[in-house]
Amino acid sequence: MPVYDYRAQNTHDSCPYCCSGFEIMRRLADPPLTHCPNCNAPIIKIISAPALGRSKSKLDDRAKAAGFHKLKRVDQGAFEKLY
Ligand SMILES: [Zn+2]
Repeated sequence: MPVYDYRAQNTHDSCPYCCSGFEIMRRLADPPLTHCPNCNAPIIKIISAPALGRSKSKLDDRAKAAGFHKLKRVDQGAFEKLY
């Protein structure tokens, strides 16, 4: 079952449970929650951003595509041109 993050739409008008946000397991067939199960305040679903494109190789690819060159330091004062 997927876990969803919810948070109160208006944190001034909510209980501690939904004020700081909560995780809840829902079946895919279940309708999305619109109100806190604890205090019935309006809540919104939080989309958690997955970590994408943060790998070093991707960064190298982008740098290469942008025309940057990468130098690797191989010795004191000596650099090897990687691309
Ligand atoms: Zn609440």
